[in-house]
Parts: sequence; structure tokens; C-alpha cells
Amino acid sequence: MLTSRPFAARVTGFLHAMSDAAKKFLTGIVLALLVGAGIGWLYGRPEIGLLIAALLTLLWQVRQLLSFDRALRTDNFDDFRIGEGIWEQMFSRFRFERDRAAQRKLSYRQLLKEIRKSTNAMPDGAVILNQENEIVNCNRAAKALAGLKRKKDRGQRVDNILRDPELTKLLQADDKSYTVEIASPVGEGNWLNCRVVPYGADQKLLLLRDVTERIRLSKMRRDFVANASHELRSPLTVISGYLDSLADDESMPSGWEKPIEQMQGQAKRMRQILGELLELSRLEGSGAVKDQEPVEVVDLCESARLAFEGHSNIAGIEFNAESKAQLRGSAAEIETVIVNLLSNAVRFTPTDGRITLTWRSGQDGAELVVADTGEGIDPEFIPRLTERFFRVDKGRSREDGGTGLGLAIVKHVLARHDAELIITSEPGEGSEFCCRFPVDRVVVSPPVALS
Ligand code: ADP
Repeated sequence: MLTSRPFAARVTGFLHAMSDAAKKFLTGIVLALLVGAGIGWLYGRPEIGLLIAALLTLLWQVRQLLSFDRALRTDNFDDFRIGEGIWEQMFSRFRFERDRAAQRKLSYRQLLKEIRKSTNAMPDGAVILNQENEIVNCNRAAKALAGLKRKKDRGQRVDNILRDPELTKLLQADDKSYTVEIASPVGEGNWLNCRVVPYGADQKLLLLRDVTERIRLSKMRRDFVANASHELRSPLTVISGYLDSLADDESMPSGWEKPIEQMQGQAKRMRQILGELLELSRLEGSGAVKDQEPVEVVDLCESARLAFEGHSNIAGIEFNAESKAQLRGSAAEIETVIVNLLSNAVRFTPTDGRITLTWRSGQDGAELVVADTGEGIDPEFIPRLTERFFRVDKGRSREDGGTGLGLAIVKHVLARHDAELIITSEPGEGSEFCCRFPVDRVVVSPPVALS
């Protein structure tokens, strides 16, 4: 049960908790009242003396309070009589807090200056955006790289200033690793790499990096490969022509047939490599596919299967048409993908194995899958398969007519169709090459559920 503390104990506790200045303040008031009462007592009216002393004490305190209030309002403490005791303590406490706040403000201002200085020193552009993609702030590099002006463009939507569908896509995507490259509005032929990362509670940071040099070098490399391939084609055609004539020439001394046949084979191989290199350069140099005609994927798959079926000594090919959906894109390029994937499956699957080609669509898009029960691929090589000239077994690939460019072409065609290639494989079990197309590339009528 709770027992209330005795009154005397509570008063003692209260007095203990008081500061020395507060105690002095109270003692002063009590003394003033006692002196007043004493003087009144001398005149036979102690209560009048007490009353007058109480009034004078009150007036003094009110005066102190009002002049303290004025000093606070005018921020001028020169006229304020500090006096002693509690008023002095209050004043020095106030002065201490005020100085501390001023100090804090100064250091925050300095910190802000430092942050601004360091973001301005950054070679990359940084633009703070709100949830509506409106510019909140940007650094100096954003002005140099993209022409954004901190004060003038504040509150404007960034995609209204940097008008590029790729940037709009990036701002809509919720993926920190997604980057796009856009032409800069500042300077002819300048390119910017853009990335968006979350920033603060409900803001995002658009980072802009100058990639003009990289794009220029990759264009130079592409042009060089395309020009060299093009230039090599003509002499190769002449050599092949002579080789064909020599092969048909019956007056050739015996023993020359074999070398000429080998030279013809190598010339054919070189023509194939040059053709594929030119095709790769063309694919790399163009953006998303322009040809938006719906492509009958089922027909393409069926004719590719029939073309392979004509070959002897290959594994059986089965086609599962789980969807009748069409694809918006280039029929010739989709056919290249199907043929490349099927020819790989045929080359790497024994004749008693099985190859399945599947076309299916659903709410998330569509998939074209080539699966085989062939030799499979070691997982460490899978990420490198789409590199140019990468082959797990170079010698063997060369022997059976591989160039090492097939999957690189497949990857580029898919990129032009906003699609991705997903490779899964188990050594000794087989491989699966899945081309996944986004839903806006798919024309479905009627819709068929993805199995
Ligand atoms: P290549 O002309 O050599 O086939 P690709 O780019 O088409 O070039 O393929 C690269 C390499 O990927 C091949 O050399 C082979 O090692 C591997 N590969 C591709 N498809 C398959 C498959 N279906 N099964 C096993 N390995 C494959």
C-alpha cells in the first residue's frame, strides 16, 4: 500500500532539489518579508509592514521579468540588470544555449558548404529528384554534362528537360542496377550513362556519367571490324572463284584434289566468319528493332524444324507450339535465333538424344526455348558463351563448322527485341536456351496460359 510522505519530508526534499541560486532567491524573499513585518511591528502594525514588503518584492521581480523579456525580444542585454542569484543564473543559461545554437548553426553551414563543394568537385552529374521526378537540386557537373541549371530547373520534371524514351524507362524502372545511355543535349555526339539510386526517405538520385569516349572507341572498333570484313570479302571471292575453277579442272595433276578441297573448305569457313562478323556489326550499330510487323513464330519454328529434319544422322527435333502468339519484331532476325540455337543443339547432341523447341506465351511475355539432352556445358563457361569467338572446345567447334559467333548474334538480336537469353545446363544432362520476350513485344490472340 502506498503511504504519503510526511509534509516536512516533502519540503526538505524540495529544498534539497533546489539550486543554490534558487535557495538564495527564496531566502532573500523571506528576509525581505521578515524585515517588512519587523518594521511594521515597531509601528504596532506588523501585517501592514509584511504587506508592503511583499508588494515591493513582487514589484522588483515583475520589473526584472519585464526587462528580461524586453532584452530577449530586442536581443540587447546591455540594459538588463543581471543582478545576482536566480536571474543571473537564468541569464547565463540562456546565453550559453544561444551561443551553442549559433555555434551549431555555423558548423552546419560549414558542413553544407563542404558537401556542396565536394559534390561540385565530382566529375559525375548528380541530380536529386522527388517522387514525381522533379528536380530538387543538382551539382555543377550536371550542368556541364546535361545542361541542367540548379535554380532555373528546380521543380521541373527531369524527363521534360532530357527528352529520351530510354531515360523515361529508367525513371519508371525500380532497379538500381539498370543503366541506360542517352545522347547529351550538351555538345555534339556526347553520350551519358544514367543510373537511378534511392536517396533519403522519398527521393532518388540520378547519376550521370560521361561515356562519350567509350562509345566513340566501341564505334571505332565496330567500324574497323565491319570495314576489315568488308574489304576481305572481295579478295576472298576471287580466291574462292579460282579454287572452284581449279577443282573443276580435269587437267590438274593428281594429288592436288585433296589440298584444293581443303582450301575450298577453309575459304568457305572464312566467308562464313566474315558474313557473321558483318551481321554482328550491323546488329550492334542499330538500336531496338524498327520492323514492328507481327512475326508468326509458329511458322518460323515449323519451317526451321523441317529444314533440319532433312539432315541425316542428327537427333530428333520435336516442336511444342503451346501458343499461337506473334512477336513484334524482325522475322529474319527471329529466324536467325531459331536456326542458330537449333544448329548448336544438333551439333552438341548425339543422334540418339532429343531436341525440343517450344514456343509459349503468358501474362509475363513469351518464351522461345530450345532444349537438348546433349553433352551440356560446365557452369563456369555459361556466362562466357555469348562472347565473340568463345567456344568451350575450340578445336572441336572448328571441326564441325562452328565460328564461335552464333550465340553472340543471338544475344544481339534478342537485345534488339528487348528480350534476354537465359542459359541453363548440366554437364552430361543437356542444355536449355530460353529467349524471354517482354509482354509488349507479344501479340496474343486468343491468350494462352503460360505452362
Ligand atoms: P559455335 O559456332 O562454336 O557453336 P556459338 O556462339 O554458337 O559458337 O556457341 C559457343 C559455344 O557454346 C560452343 O562452341 C559450345 O561450346 C557452347 N554451346 C552452344 N550451344 C550448346 C549446346 N546446345 N550444348 C552444348 N554446348 C553448347
